[in-house]
Amino acid sequence: MPIRQLPEDLINRIAAGEVVERPASVVKELVENSIDAGARRITIATANGGMDLIRITDDGHGMDRDDLMLSVERHATSKLSEDDLDDIRTLGFRGEALASIGSVSRLSVASRPADAETGLAVVVDNGRRTGPVPQAMNRGTVIEMRDLFAQVPARRKFLKSARSETAAITDVVKRLAMANPEIHFILEGSDRMMSNWPAITGEGALAARLGQVMGADFVENSVPLAMARHGVVVAGMAGLPTYTRANSLSQFYFVNGRSVRDKVLVGAIRAAYADYVFRDRFPVVALYIAIDPAEVDVNVHPAKAELRFQDQGAIRGAVIRAIGVALAAAGFKASNSVAE
Ligand code: ADP
Ligand code: MG
Repeated sequence: MPIRQLPEDLINRIAAGEVVERPASVVKELVENSIDAGARRITIATANGGMDLIRITDDGHGMDRDDLMLSVERHATSKLSEDDLDDIRTLGFRGEALASIGSVSRLSVASRPADAETGLAVVVDNGRRTGPVPQAMNRGTVIEMRDLFAQVPARRKFLKSARSETAAITDVVKRLAMANPEIHFILEGSDRMMSNWPAITGEGALAARLGQVMGADFVENSVPLAMARHGVVVAGMAGLPTYTRANSLSQFYFVNGRSVRDKVLVGAIRAAYADYVFRDRFPVVALYIAIDPAEVDVNVHPAKAELRFQDQGAIRGAVIRAIGVALAAAGFKASNSVAE
């Protein structure tokens, strides 16, 4: 066969394979967009585990007509102003999510910036764009996705039950809420309210949000982390060695506001607790790292859940020390004392 340039809708569908794995990935991309838009209140409504419907309503800055039309195009982003991949301060930057989602579902994007009299909506039905048409709405953006993978049976087949897709969505929203205490998050299933976490600001906001999301029990059985060392700032809360789990599902890691999975952080936690907990037990932690964005590469995987630190040793050292100091203050003294 001769080489041919693939049509745009097919390119989008291929890209969707990387970004849009399941309803929870759609929720993640859309809520991250709302956060990047400065939203203070984000409502996530789902039906049938998000497979039939996901509707995200935010009160962010919205989009004008031109931006709205561009937003669903591939490689269109407002977040990479300087073409600088080394200085990413937003959650998004690839400009792929809306185009990808629109290529494998029926997507409606409606938006009303603060200065507009009314909203406008654009629809992308499995890759075909129509609109914009006027839409009555509050200030902000409403994105509705229906019938995910209805026209991609090979992928629809791999989705799990509504119950487990709902569990995956809940996990995504939980992590986003933990990273953003100042935002009010509401998560609704088709027939019930699943989570409602009002915004918290000021001192103690993080601990209070962790209490909302992880439970008061965790907060009562953990110590606050506060450490700045070699350009690495460590915050969050670390469970007492007496408060452990049989698996690592209750360990949450955030780097520059993004929930991540990372071996360096997991290893640092293990090392920090090595003297206090058995190897088959896992401390509960909500660990927040802040570093210069230039020191970390988040462009490792399309879902951005993985990253690469430039200086792994500095990260590891800061985490181990932060936890050592916090636990020592609570009366737990390591055999190889935390002092250097
Ligand atoms: P990215 O987030 O990587 O830029 P997306 O495809 O997710 O790419 O979104 C494309 C663009 O659409 C964003 O850069 C942003 O300008 C705009 N956009 C998407 N969602 C929203 C929203 N909820 N509020 C305001 N603007 C949005
Ligand atoms: Mg995005």
